[in-house]
Amino acid sequence: MYFNDPTFLLLIPALLLALYAQWKVKSTYEKYSRVPCSRGYTGAQVARYILDDYRLQNISVEPTPGELTDHYDPRTQKLCLSQGIYGSNSVAAVGVAAHEAGHALQDAKAYAPLKIRNGLVPVTNLGTTLAFPLFILGMFAGLPQLMDIGIILFALAVIFSIVTLPVEFNASSRAIRVLADGNFLTEKELPMAKAVLNAAALTYVAATAMAVLNLVRLLALRGQRD
Ligand SMILES: [Zn+2]
Repeated sequence: MYFNDPTFLLLIPALLLALYAQWKVKSTYEKYSRVPCSRGYTGAQVARYILDDYRLQNISVEPTPGELTDHYDPRTQKLCLSQGIYGSNSVAAVGVAAHEAGHALQDAKAYAPLKIRNGLVPVTNLGTTLAFPLFILGMFAGLPQLMDIGIILFALAVIFSIVTLPVEFNASSRAIRVLADGNFLTEKELPMAKAVLNAAALTYVAATAMAVLNLVRLLALRGQRD
C-alpha cells in the first residue's frame, strides 16, 4: 500500500525536478571543469587565500576522497575539497572551493541560518530515521497518535531542509562576491562559476520540494484515517 497509494503521485513533480537538477549539476560541472581559469589558481589555493583574508588561518584546507564531496566541517574546522577540486585550476573548482570557504565565513560570523541548521542536525537525524517507520506502524496498528509523532518528526526534517536553502544561497553569493573582489576570476569566468553554483543550489531546492511534498502526503494519508 505504501507505494501504490494515490498520494504517491504528489511526488512526481519533485522527482522530475530532482532528476533535472542532477543532470544540470553534472553537465554544468563537467563543462566548466574543463575550462582552466586564466589566473591559474587551484581550488585549494583559492580557499586558502579567502580564509587567510578573513583571518581564518586556524581552518585547514584538506583533500577528501570522492567526487563533489566538498564540505566545510565546523566541528573540526576543516575545509575538505574533493580530489577534482583541490588541485584543479578549473573555473568550476575555483567556484566550488570559494563556496565552501563561504560556509567557513558563515561559521566565523555566526550566520543565524547556519546556527539554526547545525542545531537541527541531531533532531533531523532522529526524525529521518524514525518518522516513516513510526508513521507506517501507526497506520497498520490503527494508532493515530503514532502517526502524528511520525509526522512531527518528519516536519523537523522538512524545516531542516528549508533552513538549508538560505545557507546554501548565501554561501554561493559570498563566493561570487569574494571571487570578483579578489580578482580570482575574470569577468568572463565569473558567470561560469555562478552557473556551477546555481546548478548545485537547484539540487537543494529539489530536495526541499521532495521533503515538503512528502509531508503533504503524510498529512493526506493521516487525514484519510479520520
Ligand atoms: Zn554548500
